[in-house]
Amino acid sequence: MVFPFDLSSIVRKDLDKLVAYDAHLYSDVVKLDANENPYPFPAEVAQRLGELIADEMLSRYPDGEAVALRRDIAAYVGVSPEQLMVGNGSDELILNILLTFGTGGRVLITNPTFSMYRIHCLVAGAKPIPVPRREDFSLDVPALLCYARKPDSRVLFICSPNNPTGNASTLEEIESVLQAVNCLVVVDQAYLEFGGQDCLPLLQRYPHLVILRTFSKAYALAGLRVGYMIGNPDVLRQIKKVKQPFNLNSFSQAAARLVLQHREVFAQQIQDIIESRNKLWQELQGMAGVTPYPSVTNYILFRTNYESKTVYQGLLDKGILIRKLGGPELPGFLRVSVGTPEQNQRFIQALSAVLAELGGE
Ligand SMILES: *Cc1c(COP(=O)(O)O)cnc(C)c1O
Repeated sequence: MVFPFDLSSIVRKDLDKLVAYDAHLYSDVVKLDANENPYPFPAEVAQRLGELIADEMLSRYPDGEAVALRRDIAAYVGVSPEQLMVGNGSDELILNILLTFGTGGRVLITNPTFSMYRIHCLVAGAKPIPVPRREDFSLDVPALLCYARKPDSRVLFICSPNNPTGNASTLEEIESVLQAVNCLVVVDQAYLEFGGQDCLPLLQRYPHLVILRTFSKAYALAGLRVGYMIGNPDVLRQIKKVKQPFNLNSFSQAAARLVLQHREVFAQQIQDIIESRNKLWQELQGMAGVTPYPSVTNYILFRTNYESKTVYQGLLDKGILIRKLGGPELPGFLRVSVGTPEQNQRFIQALSAVLAELGGE
């Protein structure tokens, strides 16, 4: 006899609102859906990385304080190690921020934006409050301040440059928010290497500012999951209470340090990606029925006159994977990551063909 076990009687009720994140992997596609660095990982860095896998790296626990990596990042960024915490991707840091400050409170999210803020809110038992951006996707500062003054507002997320829209907020806009609210203001700068203004100068004046950055995009380490947070040591000490003690494995810590040592290789790639992005934008702009939005990042948001999923599927059938958006907030919108020049060419050709097929129906 099977014991009568009722799963629904023990699962958290508030998880009803959450759909498990589908990180489906496709093989044999041109992958332009996740804003990764499209170039082959630099061979000399990969080789040195391979040489680092020695006994102790495998059999001993990692340095939970990531002392060496934090020291290197501190030197790179120009802050002190006490102002830094590293995470298993900045995704983990977003969750840890919300577990520390968000649970039971309200969290303001400037939509449309990165989906993980809302998802981690629900995981942490915080209430995500969407505050719409303006039609040009700039921050609606007065609306934000109005929402932030309501009781129990704990955290406010600003993604700058913003994913998926590609635009950045100005330092003035961000400072005007910081001056008027007393919740934690998290500025996610995952794409800062490609453009937008660095919020670091605001850190000395505003102890409730936290900045997120990552090695996943410009620095090509998405597979090893290394993100970091720059903030007030008092804030970080609180977040440390919820952090997994050994959250970042030894190999990833070593890899991130190597990448910093080889920054010039990546600096060149970043320049190339920016040039390719401008070229890709011009090509999209020149296509009938396509509207690209301005981007300071390594991806471009664009709109066509067809449903997002129709264009997305048409491209996928031709072996090109991009990001499908849509919904009431972004009807007809899609996001394409900037690839290598060859990949971008294949994308443009496939998109022309898909739109021609749809128009001819
Ligand atoms: C990709 C991305 C991240 C996640 O980065 P990881 O460090 O890989 O977790 C964070 N924020 C934004 C806006 C992103 O687009």
